[in-house]
Parts: sequence; C-alpha cells; structure tokens
Amino acid sequence: MVSYKELGLVNTREMFAKAIKGGYAIPAFNFNNMEQLQAIIKASAETKSPVILQVSKGARNYANQTLLRYMAQGAVEYAKELGWEHPQICLHLDHGDSFELCKSCVDFGFSSVMIDASSLPYEENIALTKKVVEYAHKYDVTVEAELGVLAGVEDEVSSAVSHYTKPEEVVDFATRTGCDSLAISIGTSHGAYKFTPEQCTRDPKTGRLVPPPLAFDVLDAIMEQLPGFPIVLHGSSSVPQEYVDMINKYGGKLPDAVGIPEEQLRKAAKSAVCKINIDSDSRLAFTAAVRKVFAEKPSEFDPRKYCGPARDLMEELYKHKIINVLGSDGKAE
Ligand SMILES: [Zn+2]
Repeated sequence: MVSYKELGLVNTREMFAKAIKGGYAIPAFNFNNMEQLQAIIKASAETKSPVILQVSKGARNYANQTLLRYMAQGAVEYAKELGWEHPQICLHLDHGDSFELCKSCVDFGFSSVMIDASSLPYEENIALTKKVVEYAHKYDVTVEAELGVLAGVEDEVSSAVSHYTKPEEVVDFATRTGCDSLAISIGTSHGAYKFTPEQCTRDPKTGRLVPPPLAFDVLDAIMEQLPGFPIVLHGSSSVPQEYVDMINKYGGKLPDAVGIPEEQLRKAAKSAVCKINIDSDSRLAFTAAVRKVFAEKPSEFDPRKYCGPARDLMEELYKHKIINVLGSDGKAE
C-alpha cells in the first residue's frame, strides 16, 4: 500500500471546490511518456496551474503502472525544482472499468480514480460506482463517475453513438453512489474524429468543418439539479487545425479531423464544469512536430532531436489551454 500523500500528490476535492467558486476548470492531461510529462509539468509550474495527470488503462499497459507512479512522484519534485513552491498535482485513473483496477490504483498511490460504468444498465452503474467510492474514500482518494455515453474512440473506450446524460437521474445517482464528481455527456466525444462530416456544416470561407454545438441546455439542467457539484467533460480536445495541417503537409493523413471549438470550452469552464480532459490535442502536437523533423531532416536519427521539438510544441499547447481556455493559471501558487 502506497499513499498518494507520501508522494506529494493531492486529491481533487479542494481543487474542484475552488474551481467552481472561481469560474475556471482544472486541466486533465493524459500522459504515457516522459516528454509529455515534462511538458505538462513545465506548463503547469510556469503558469502556477493546478493539474490532473491522467493515466488510462491503455497508458498503464503501455508504460507500466509502477513506473508511472514514480514518474508522478518525480513530477512533484521536478515542479518544485522549477520554482513551484506548492505544486497541486493529482494522479488520476482515467476510465477505470472494474473495481479491481480502481482498487489497485488506490493501493498504488493514485489520488483520484474514475470508475466508468456508464455502459452498464443504470442500477449496475450505481452498484459498481458505490463499491469503488466506499473503498477509495477509506484512503481519501476521490472518485469520478460517469452517466451518459460519449461517442468516439479512446484506447479501449469506444461507442458509435452518444447518449446525453439525463438530468432527471443525476441527483439519485450522485446521492446513492457518493461520487465526488460526475462526467457527463453533452456532445463532446473521444478522439480526433469527434464528428462525421455529415454532422457538421462547412464554413464557406475556409472550407473547414464546423461541428454541432454542445448541449448547454442539458448542462444547465444538470447544474440546476445538482447546484455546486463538480462536473467533468471528457473528449474535449479542439483538434487544432494548425497541427492537422502540419501533419498532412509532412506526409500524414488526417482528413476532416474535427474537435470541440475552444470558445465552447471557455464557456463550459466558467460553469460547474471543473475538469476538462484533453488528450488528442497533445497527440496531434507530438505527431506534427515529429513529422516535421522527419520530413525536413531525413538523416536525423537521434530521438532527442525529434522528441525535443515535440515536447516544446506540447508545452506551448498546454500553456495555451491553461491560460486561454480553462483559466486555471495562477490558481495554485
Ligand atoms: Zn474519456
């Protein structure tokens, strides 16, 4: 048993309470390698933004859970070295799909876990979530649950269609499970292809796809049912066109990739939405930077020479999200 407190990590409770009050959202960035983690920590330390490091089941399989935990512990020390006196860093399991997986993360130093039983029938979702909450709370680990189904593909999580969260269910669900935050479905989606061209309109000037707007009426109805309760948005990458263009220019093939416009996320961040998940955007930044080096310098074979620029581009992206989209800069001095 390793307590996250010994690692210098924090759970999400205080972070979320402050974010709701202050009208901003905490960034939840996925990571599975060193360059990503360095970029996340540098961006957070320089902007003094609380941050959630997310590990998916796929990342855990890719990078090894023990190594990831020590990387998170190292991240706390690295943040201090960068001059961030009181780093507010949470290590969170993204899309836990069983009690055993969540328990193993609680036991191995995670400060927060998500149990995603949203694909199960309602009563089974409640039962499994409640079981995880009861275990996690014994160790002061916070739990995110999910109601409603997001479309898209993310590691092992995938669904062809989305089902919006039903506002009439949220009070019953939150009360009976005791969860600390709730991921909802209001039109965000996993991956870099959040919408099909048929779901979008085209901007006549640029020819770019314009996605359908998020269902803010559903979010409003949920907030009315659960005033002040922490809400989470998954699948909230914006799929920046500059990265997609860069990837396509340097030999990639990502036709019609489309994400959530940043002005909609900015609006959400001001509400009870206090955690916004961003993964695809950093994957795109990484890939764009690596492709550029490979295309321009075909003789390069030192990984530092292409992972370095990838890291720089991701750091720039994370800072942009923190300052210009989520508004979490300066919230953890
Ligand atoms: Zn997700």
